[in-house]
Amino acid sequence: MDVAVFNTRPYDRQFLEAASQGTGHSFMWLEARLTAQTAGLAAGFPAVCVFVNDTVDAAVLEALAHGGTRLVATRSAGFNHIDLKAAARLGITVARVPAYSPHAVAEHAIAMILTLNRKTHRAYNRVREGNFALDGLLGFDMVGKSAGIIGTGEIGTIVARILAGFGCQILASDPMPNPALEDMGAVYLPPQELVARADIISLHCPLTPATRHLIDAAMIGRMKRGAMLINTSRGAVVDTAAVIAGLKSGQIGHLGLDVYEEEADLFFEDLSGTVLQDDLFARLLTFPNVLITGHQAFFTTEALTAIAETTIANIGSFETTGAVIHMVSADRVAQPS
Ligand code: NAD
Repeated sequence: MDVAVFNTRPYDRQFLEAASQGTGHSFMWLEARLTAQTAGLAAGFPAVCVFVNDTVDAAVLEALAHGGTRLVATRSAGFNHIDLKAAARLGITVARVPAYSPHAVAEHAIAMILTLNRKTHRAYNRVREGNFALDGLLGFDMVGKSAGIIGTGEIGTIVARILAGFGCQILASDPMPNPALEDMGAVYLPPQELVARADIISLHCPLTPATRHLIDAAMIGRMKRGAMLINTSRGAVVDTAAVIAGLKSGQIGHLGLDVYEEEADLFFEDLSGTVLQDDLFARLLTFPNVLITGHQAFFTTEALTAIAETTIANIGSFETTGAVIHMVSADRVAQPS
């Protein structure tokens, strides 16, 4: 099958080529993001492969359908960037990678927690400059702290397991409680109560209308003073302006972000030679107790292998049967998994 791959980086090509050995698929590798302006490049391609920062709204889907595209395969678990109703209306099948390596994301969340706690991001620079003073590097023991996990699916469950291993008390919030966590001794609470009791809050829910700005000024106001907030889910689960106010007042003691509301214009690009236009993002970069990574939580060899293999399996299945293995349909918009 002919596949137009948008937003391609060298690692995408490397892993997709390896996974497609012997399948006969033919790829057009495009560095450009999929947008209304670039959709025409896929004309004549029955399959299009995208990533989280591509625009797959109704207008783009209409352009793709007009060009003969019948399959959109996203190299991600989340699918909030795709207008599923428009896809259904246009007869375009949408495939995703439901679980590639939840460990990759969970372990990155833990890396952020430990970095912010023990300030290794600051110690690294200090020691290289010959500054061995410990002032400002004070951390806390993880044992005995309350860790609140919002969203206890694949990733949240692994985060909970690792933090339980540190001796943390696990608090959880999810409309569908996970018996595996309850067996671990986790206590399920409404999110408002969880944030009031947790020393560390880690977000692992999908972005839905119900979770957009879940962490807003009111929720931040309910947090323990100096709490740590970690977001590796989707940027818009957090209200960035409210978080900045919380950092300035000291209400939020540590912030770890792998995702950002307006990341589409920033992440996955080398912008080191350009002037940063996003003032909220620029403000976040000024805090010593904020750690930001550019949507790299998924970025392990194991995860990229699994993403490529599942994507190729979806494309192969669509080619031979007309159906994909991991379909996302409009009727699941209200409750994505
Ligand atoms: P999952 O579907 O296994 O788990 C999501 C959980 O969130 C489910 O248990 C669901 O019931 C719960 N949930 C839904 N609405 C909720 C709400 N209002 N409050 C609390 N919980 C709610 O998904 P997963 O594989 O664990 O991934 C979680 C999210 O992580 C994805 O949706 C995606 O946005 C994000 N993600 C980020 C990266 C990254 O690189 N940073 C990579 C993969 C996934």
